[in-house]
Amino acid sequence: MPAQILDGKKIAAEVRQQVQQEVAQLKKQGITPGLAVVLVGDDPASQVYVRNKHRACEEVGIHSVVHRLPAETSQAQLLDLVKQLNIDPRIHGILVQLPLPDHIDEKTVIDTIALEKDVDGFGPANVGNLVIGDKCFYPCTPHGCMVLLDKTGIDPKGKKAVIVGRSNIVGKPMAMMLLARHATVTICHSRTQNLADECRQADILVAAVGKPEMITGDMIKEGAVVIDVGINRVAEKKLVGDVHFASAAEKASWITPVPGGVGPMTIAMLLKNTVEAARR
Ligand code: NDP
Repeated sequence: MPAQILDGKKIAAEVRQQVQQEVAQLKKQGITPGLAVVLVGDDPASQVYVRNKHRACEEVGIHSVVHRLPAETSQAQLLDLVKQLNIDPRIHGILVQLPLPDHIDEKTVIDTIALEKDVDGFGPANVGNLVIGDKCFYPCTPHGCMVLLDKTGIDPKGKKAVIVGRSNIVGKPMAMMLLARHATVTICHSRTQNLADECRQADILVAAVGKPEMITGDMIKEGAVVIDVGINRVAEKKLVGDVHFASAAEKASWITPVPGGVGPMTIAMLLKNTVEAARR
């Protein structure tokens, strides 16, 4: 039976609507959640992401401030801005758009964001809290994947989850979140042997690789939930995921499309984290 579609666009809209209601509640208590986004340089993709985040904030009533800095901004200047935002009471969340220009050390910048404002969830203290199962901000993309997974009604407890990709922003936090929900987790990467065999074990398969359509239907267990994080541009106007959708959909019970799957969830979860930061 062909897979059911996990409609990220629709589910993200539901999350945003819920966030809008939470913002309205907070405003009644005199709190307007505030997000500062910092963009250094003029990377075209980053500009689009930042514009979309700003627009999404405005739609739900979050106070959004975008700091656009020239590419030649020094690391010290950027750190000064982050430190100012750390103590700005109108700002509850800080997001520094990556990648940063080569002369700036990303880790130093991310480390400088105050833990309570780290709504992207990339800072070491937040990651540490995620690993030990303490209160933290879930990084937005894997958080979105978990929300999608929950929409299937399938409990990860005791299930075999396989994640392809071990990046700090997707693969590793995804593994921690699934582990926290009692899945048995395998993380695969570029040195994994017999990737297809590993994938075929998965009741829940998450692909976060960045290789167009590399996970094919023959690598998928009958009835698996398939979450495709990949976004790969293969032609002027064509995006595909890391999963070969048509063949995978014949095996999976649920599958996310690309576009319209995980992608729309990421910004929705950023809004959710910002409201959570304001509430705290
Ligand atoms: P990275 O490039 O940081 O990580 C890719 C991972 O895939 C690495 O761990 C790498 O292994 C692994 N990998 C590469 N080739 C293979 C292979 N042949 N077999 C098995 N594993 C392999 O990517 P990201 O995690 O940042 O992003 C992954 C994808 O998700 C991209 O397409 C990106 O565009 C997309 N993305 C989408 C988002 C959204 O909002 N939907 C947000 C973030 C990312 P190794 O560690 O050994 O090098």
